[in-house]
Amino acid sequence: MAAASPLIDKTDEQKAITDMVRQFTDEQILPNAEHFDHEDEFPQDIVEQMKELGLFGVTIPEEYGGMGLDLTSYTMIVEELSRGWISISGIINTHFIGSYLLMKFGSEDQKQKYLPRMATGEIRAAFSLSEPELGSDVQAIKTTARKTGDGDYEINGQKMWVTNGLRSGVVFTLVKTDPEAEPRHQGMTCFIAEKEPGAAENTGEYAGFTVPPPLKKMGYKGVESTELVFDGYRCPADNILGGEQEGLDKGFSQMMDALEVGRVNVAARGVGIAQRALELALRYSQERKAFGKPISQHQAIQFKLADMATQVEAARLLTLRAARLKDAGERSDLEAGMAKLFASEAGRMCVEESFRIHGGYGYSKEYEIERLYRDAPLLLIGEGTSEIQRMVIGKKLLQRHKI
Ligand SMILES: Cc1cc2nc3c(=O)[nH]c(=O)nc-3n(C[C@H](O)[C@H](O)[C@H](O)COP(=O)(O)OP(=O)(O)OC[C@H]3O[C@@H](n4cnc5c(N)ncnc54)[C@H](O)[C@@H]3O)c2cc1C
Repeated sequence: MAAASPLIDKTDEQKAITDMVRQFTDEQILPNAEHFDHEDEFPQDIVEQMKELGLFGVTIPEEYGGMGLDLTSYTMIVEELSRGWISISGIINTHFIGSYLLMKFGSEDQKQKYLPRMATGEIRAAFSLSEPELGSDVQAIKTTARKTGDGDYEINGQKMWVTNGLRSGVVFTLVKTDPEAEPRHQGMTCFIAEKEPGAAENTGEYAGFTVPPPLKKMGYKGVESTELVFDGYRCPADNILGGEQEGLDKGFSQMMDALEVGRVNVAARGVGIAQRALELALRYSQERKAFGKPISQHQAIQFKLADMATQVEAARLLTLRAARLKDAGERSDLEAGMAKLFASEAGRMCVEESFRIHGGYGYSKEYEIERLYRDAPLLLIGEGTSEIQRMVIGKKLLQRHKI
């Protein structure tokens, strides 16, 4: 019997749900991903099935209508979905971050108001930090919210790269409420900005919230990434995450906390895409012949396969370790940074090696690896670039080992 591995072992519940998601991926996502990718079409049918499976409520507590599963289980699910197509995991990723923000920092009223409808996928969540002039330097945010005479906040400014920016119903939006604050992060607040899902121009109570046409991207197709324009958009004070008294000027630390679990989530996507690249390489290398034998019989190809499989395993272990530490209530900032850094780079490396193994066919749109080649680089950027992860890891290391 194989030795038990406390990191990769699954509980019966985790096994049942990941088996179910794997079957869903094999039957519904993989056969259809090429079509949606090539047409850059939103996979509405797949999303409807995901709602039925409860995948929008995986981590939302049962009392609010979700499954109440932990980050480790969520990580396992994200790996399976990403093995099929990372755009699918992108559709639930920002939703997961929004749910996390509500569960951890939301007032009871806010939880009651949003979580049950989010658990079913009736409303979907996006989150928005980035702006045209900043991504890594979050404290440089320029979008502002100012309190008006009637107690509402008026938001003005432009956001950038908002995944699910059009179809979401709520956007967790980080803005400056005190532009003069020093240090800068003390003057930032997270608003739960409501809008009409799918509407480019919002009217009525959501007037002043515009969603320009989706940005055109090299990969990560199907799921929309948009700018958001706030021009006199009114947000009630009750929509400050945690309520006005608890949440005003607390947005930066709330978002940084959420990014930590977001990084574990991106790491899981790296594992999923790396795993798929390996599967494709294992198959193709045994089918394709060169110099009288399958290319898998050439040692140079075997070395590539060996390196890829090693990267996949290591990335998976780092990712599950970060998730398990978080679930155990232990510090996991350093580990989440390591997992995100390693697994996203492993995703890129495995996809490139698989692409090379496919030879000229890897460059053809007939082969799945071509899509993975365009999708994988996103993971190096989203939720903090590799450079930013190294900065986080370095800082945390020095904090933990201060002399
Ligand atoms: C498809 C897609 C979807 C996205 N979805 C979302 C979303 O839903 N919500 C959201 O808020 N954002 C989203 N983003 C934005 C993403 O988080 C940012 O692109 C990312 O944080 C990098 O920011 P930037 O693009 O402004 O690059 P910059 O911050 O301008 O960085 C440019 C380069 O400089 C490097 N750099 C920056 N600062 C330093 C430093 N101090 N030391 C060393 N190197 C440094 C970076 O690593 C990078 O290589 C998305 C991006 C993409 C491409």
